[in-house]
Amino acid sequence: MMKVSDCQFIQNDYSFQELLPIIKTGKKVVLYGAGTAPSSYARIAIPAFRSFGIEPIAFVDDDLDRQGKEFLGVKVQAPSYIESLGSDAMIFLSSNYFESIARTIKTIGKTENIFSCTGILRSVHEDAYSEVMSFEEVQRRLHTHTSKLNRIQAMGRDENSTLILNAIDIQVTERCTMKCIDCSNLMQYYKKPKDAEQELLEDNVEKILSAVDKIYDVRILGGEPFLYKHLPKLLGMICESKKVSRVTVYTNATFVPKPEVLESLKNNMIEVEITDYDELSRNRLKMIATFKEHKIRYIDHKPQNWTDSARVVKSEKKGRELALMFERCCVNDVLSLLHGRLYHCPFSANAHNLQAIPVDKTDWIDLSETKSPVDLRLAISKFYFGKAFQSACKFCLGRDFEQPKVIPALQTKKPIDIPIVFTA
Ligand code: SF4
Ligand code: SF4
Repeated sequence: MMKVSDCQFIQNDYSFQELLPIIKTGKKVVLYGAGTAPSSYARIAIPAFRSFGIEPIAFVDDDLDRQGKEFLGVKVQAPSYIESLGSDAMIFLSSNYFESIARTIKTIGKTENIFSCTGILRSVHEDAYSEVMSFEEVQRRLHTHTSKLNRIQAMGRDENSTLILNAIDIQVTERCTMKCIDCSNLMQYYKKPKDAEQELLEDNVEKILSAVDKIYDVRILGGEPFLYKHLPKLLGMICESKKVSRVTVYTNATFVPKPEVLESLKNNMIEVEITDYDELSRNRLKMIATFKEHKIRYIDHKPQNWTDSARVVKSEKKGRELALMFERCCVNDVLSLLHGRLYHCPFSANAHNLQAIPVDKTDWIDLSETKSPVDLRLAISKFYFGKAFQSACKFCLGRDFEQPKVIPALQTKKPIDIPIVFTA
């Protein structure tokens, strides 16, 4: 029998912009979770809704001490209050206790119009909550909220159930036109960088697409992905798949891609994410003008949240500490494809590829070893959802928003010697 998590009816991957006109037809917005801690979701969600001109009619909370009181100008009710609202209610979960809330809501008999806070927190402008919490803290909270629900919804799957992945990184090259000392993908350590082998990469992508049911975001990166000359064919393959929701191509805007690459980017599924490294992104304005001319979708932003996460350092962390580090890591819900192996994150992929850390075969899936889509589906499912941490985490300083910050994109002229962190 197919095992399905209790939380399947909670909508996580929704567009708040599409929901907004529906809410404005007179729906009653209720927030489930009235946590009063300084960094609670309730404290971010209320100003977020108000910034769109929406006043939630109530909080709902299981805590008897909170019920009947006002919090942030909104009355806190018992969960049974939801029953009285009928089909007009839209419930947003301002809490990470998804499983217990889902059970309560199910008991009440309501399983429609239940949403996480992911969509609204992604849509809202940071000014809305700037007095409550910093942008970085909100991003950290948002990431935890989204990935926790993704994981819960995917738990307990067997080979017959759906396999939905949040994101896959496809690293098409180790080459980059910049050499950032703190590149968290570890490009600064490559002395003889090379591109992905075309046939192998396309075969790998086909295999992955045949094994999964959905991938929300396929992220094309390097190094600098526009250096990879087979990019148009790869993008074509991925965009043809109905299983992929969107494709993001990351660039440092040092050069404008060739006409055939521009042609392949003209697809509504694709968005180019330009990082503006000031004078280092020497062709950024030209790139933007070209993208506008060709109607290529892009976003353009300054580097954000660079943390001290690019050094390979052996730590003494064990079991629970490593699990906590993995839980808080901002790439813990990503898979990373590099040279025929599917890893959990770019650090693990490149640290292994650079032979900088001890070999641990449980840190990747070798795509040449799996035979059928069913075998691969099972292997990915176990790997994606079943590991408490990666072996590579023992050599990583961590990637969460509390890591010490570093100045983005400081350059090195020569590749950096990779530290020796183990005795072979
Ligand atoms: S631009 Fe810098 S951070 Fe980006 S891939 Fe290249 S070296 Fe890494
Ligand atoms: S090695 Fe672990 S902590 Fe470091 S980036 Fe990868 S998953 Fe995150």
